[in-house]
Amino acid sequence: MSTQRENRIPTEPRFNFVTEKAYSFILEYGYNRFPIYPFKVLEDLSDYVVCLPWSEAKKILKSSDPFHLRETKAEARTIRPRADGKYYIVYDDVEVNSDARIAWTIMHEIGHIVLGHLTDFGETALDRGGLTQKKYGVLEVEAHYFAAEFLMPTALLKYFSDISIEEIALLFGVSEEAAKKKHKRVFDTSYMPRSSYDELLIRNFFDFLDNDIDGTIYRNIYGTWGIPNKSKYVTLCRKCPDCLTYIADRNAVYCFYCGADIEKKKAYSNMFARLSEQQKFAKVPGVSRPQLPYIEVELIAGQKSQRVKFCPNCLSHDVNNGAVYCKICGSPLYNVCSNCGKSLSVNECFCVECGTESAISKLYCASEERLNKIKDCSSQPQFSEEWFVYPYWGYVRMRLSSNREEANDDLKTALLYSMAYVGDDDAFIVYADTLSASAVIFDNQGTILDFIRRVDNVDYTRMEVYIFQ
Ligand SMILES: [Zn+2]
Ligand SMILES: [Zn+2]
Ligand SMILES: [Zn+2]
Ligand SMILES: [Zn+2]
Repeated sequence: MSTQRENRIPTEPRFNFVTEKAYSFILEYGYNRFPIYPFKVLEDLSDYVVCLPWSEAKKILKSSDPFHLRETKAEARTIRPRADGKYYIVYDDVEVNSDARIAWTIMHEIGHIVLGHLTDFGETALDRGGLTQKKYGVLEVEAHYFAAEFLMPTALLKYFSDISIEEIALLFGVSEEAAKKKHKRVFDTSYMPRSSYDELLIRNFFDFLDNDIDGTIYRNIYGTWGIPNKSKYVTLCRKCPDCLTYIADRNAVYCFYCGADIEKKKAYSNMFARLSEQQKFAKVPGVSRPQLPYIEVELIAGQKSQRVKFCPNCLSHDVNNGAVYCKICGSPLYNVCSNCGKSLSVNECFCVECGTESAISKLYCASEERLNKIKDCSSQPQFSEEWFVYPYWGYVRMRLSSNREEANDDLKTALLYSMAYVGDDDAFIVYADTLSASAVIFDNQGTILDFIRRVDNVDYTRMEVYIFQ
């Protein structure tokens, strides 16, 4: 019996299996925002998981050391008595006093449960005494890895080109120590596991990734440090005092969106006056601005500049590699400060160094206005109250516009200013903002519906396309 049991426990950690279990668990329970709080997960599992802090378990179980945490120097333990088939977790809330650490430990225990460690190997409790150190160690590594993939999935981290350790900690609600290990693993090594759930996970969190990164970091700074005028608040996540736009560029002096002096250094008699002013709007959420699609071009050797992917005014894709202006309408394709000559990102309406309005500013504002207008179609004549917003439209647009997908250039631009709803009888409803865009979307409905079938597993039988008025 004992040899059979030992044979069944894997000799090496099953990293792919663990990753897939963690991701499918996230998808199954519909989590689509970070941080995911382990206590919320426990609530969702309350039908078959009971979790108690050690101090409370002492009273309830009338035991001086419930689940032998002290005796075995464990931070938590999960037991599954055969009698009722439920899982019981007891975690140390006395000697471990960091919330982030307790959260991590609980996710680790949930890992043991979800990975079947207490059911697949004939064990009722994972106990160092019952298994050899090495075998026990494999399951420990798996549970730990589960917690790491669940709380900060590699598939989502790979989505960022640049994210700092502090940002990981704030975004995913983990300790800086855990964030540091994860950052090293994902960005400093060639370690890149792929799971069949990666794409589904990005789809699930796309709205969060697209709209809520700055807001989440900001809210967690407020939650973590309380007083938001500490230096970390200023360097990590700033808002423009005038237009509330989040400003990621840590060196910016002026707001890239409205041109305001961010620090307003000159406006205050001293630092404290400025900090108290900052505190006033600390609780007001900031605003994320949409991005014009761009590519990076090396105009001058060794120096990368951003060029809009297509003309932001007439949406023409007919752009030669060397072209600086659109040949149809003459709009600028690069963004440069006319005052100091700084090469700017295509999404900067004002020079962040000198505050001068940029060449692309008016085109950017017109584009943002079109985007905002079409976000809500509920006042349109055809609109029915039965329709609901298609939740993955942002993701579908992003994927169809990437080079990986088959969509032609016309479809990519037509999708730019569009919105999608699901109606009755499996109808998929798209609003486009011009007559030509609606025609392109209608002609390419096969491509769109095929893609949705592939990534969302839903079969919409027909498409209705309307022009936003
Ligand atoms: Zn464990
Ligand atoms: Zn501003
Ligand atoms: Zn043009
Ligand atoms: Zn400038």
